[in-house]
Amino acid sequence: MEISMTSTATDSATSFSSLGLSEPLMEALDALEFTQMTQTQQACLPDVLAGADVAVQAKTGSGKTLAFGLALLSKIDVEAKNPQSLIMCPTRELAEQVAEQIRLLAKRMSNLKVVSLVGGMPMGPQIISLRYGANVVVGTPGRIMDHIGKRTLSLKKVNCFVLDEADRMLDMGFEDEMRVVMHHLSRTSSAATRQTLLFSATFPDQIKSITDQYQRDAKIIKVDDGQSAP
Ligand code: ADP
Ligand code: MG
Repeated sequence: MEISMTSTATDSATSFSSLGLSEPLMEALDALEFTQMTQTQQACLPDVLAGADVAVQAKTGSGKTLAFGLALLSKIDVEAKNPQSLIMCPTRELAEQVAEQIRLLAKRMSNLKVVSLVGGMPMGPQIISLRYGANVVVGTPGRIMDHIGKRTLSLKKVNCFVLDEADRMLDMGFEDEMRVVMHHLSRTSSAATRQTLLFSATFPDQIKSITDQYQRDAKIIKVDDGQSAP
């Protein structure tokens, strides 16, 4: 594969090459033909990659998946026995889409496994996938909670936790499930290494309360003009 390393004075600030990403991630971006960051990615990636707890308000289609995908994959040790990333999404469809996008980004990271835990599917195959080793787990709140309850999902090595479409999860009535998962995370994984990222199109008080309670000195980034990805 040919790797294009062109970078001009005009696009260098908005180019992914300014972020110091690993080679496998840069190669994956190249294969996807993503060269320029969206405005949302420019606004949050420096903080997100530095390991900060960030809450991002940006509209749909602004490239949020890639923002947290790059962050969590930058921190993965593929040899680790337990999941290091946990992403919670409101619906089965969104969880599957996020899992797919992360798999594409992780294409050059050998042996990295992304497992989706969504409702409406039998538990058995999900339990087997977890047992065979999952680096990244993407799921819906109820099903993630079910696996925690059955002790088939360990959160003790989670170093990146993502609440995707947080406002929609609340609208769908998942507040209790979200809080149960976050409470369990705060009890089992190490606060010193855990990064919590929240993405939402809107910022009602309920989101502010989750941010205050579960994020460390959250930096809130609002992208008013959340330009869509090309
Ligand atoms: P959001 O979660 O903000 O609604 P997505 O993460 O689903 O948006 O991204 C929307 C689309 O834009 C996806 O098809 C994604 O692959 C694409 N995309 C994301 N970032 C870029 C980029 N920097 N360049 C080109 N396309 C991108
Ligand atoms: Mg999204």
